[in-house]
Amino acid sequence: MRVLRARTLGFCPGVRRAVASAEKAAADAEATSRRSYVLGEIVHNPRVSARLAGLGMGRLDDLDALAPGSLADAVVVVRSHGAAPATFERLAASGADIVDATCPKVAANQKAAASFAARGFLVVIAGDKGHGETLGVAGHAPGAIVVSSPEEALAVPADRPIALIAQTTISEVEYDAIRSALLSRRPDLADSGGVCAASRERQSAVEGFRGLVDAVVVVGGRNSANTRRLAELARSLGIPAWHVENAAGIPGELGAYETVGLSAGASTPDEDIDEAEARLLELARLPGRRQATRA
Ligand code: SF4
Repeated sequence: MRVLRARTLGFCPGVRRAVASAEKAAADAEATSRRSYVLGEIVHNPRVSARLAGLGMGRLDDLDALAPGSLADAVVVVRSHGAAPATFERLAASGADIVDATCPKVAANQKAAASFAARGFLVVIAGDKGHGETLGVAGHAPGAIVVSSPEEALAVPADRPIALIAQTTISEVEYDAIRSALLSRRPDLADSGGVCAASRERQSAVEGFRGLVDAVVVVGGRNSANTRRLAELARSLGIPAWHVENAAGIPGELGAYETVGLSAGASTPDEDIDEAEARLLELARLPGRRQATRA
């Protein structure tokens, strides 16, 4: 068996930056005898979450229960997904020392959404309802609507100008379909530029597997939407694909394939990728590793 690594895979710059910020915040908090928390799950990856827990960083999920001043001795990290202004206000009222690790590209989308809403546009966010990033962007644009399909896009009110904002990790195919549906309602549709380049690169690297591999393994957390999308993309190209959380999830049947493409979501750390590759090579009982050059 040969294992071809996608030319771009794993941590995107925004996630790498957020994880580094969280690790530093945990160390700073420990050095100053304070508590440390991350708002929600830093990324949808069990290894990363466990590493931060090992550094003493807890997880904050329910801000409703926060009493004013109750986090005066704590550092709270806002992850790369960002958060709504109301969330920052609540954290500030709790007295927490806030480390804002919102990815600059997500912050730009939040700013664009706020600007469009202030100018009377209906802001439509193409992405997953309930996802931290879409909730955060929607929080910056009163009245914003999240749509997950062209059908939902066709149902939004079109009696005023519409501005489209992409969840940064949505697939280009989904984004384009939603954009076309909105354009059929409002030819004057405004948009903020679509999917993040880091997401596009990971998607295009999986597309590059076409004709080169017999199967694809995508490594990433079970709840990682961008990881799931990479596996779906491979399947849409007619390549059998498995979404596994880590090396232990790789099924033995993959040993039967001659060439396996290896990809990973934007929230997957290098260690998970290396272990998955080692597991694939172990399945094939082949020493050494091969690096994709054309994928
Ligand atoms: S996918 Fe793009 S926008 Fe989202 S965190 Fe990564 S670099 Fe930032």
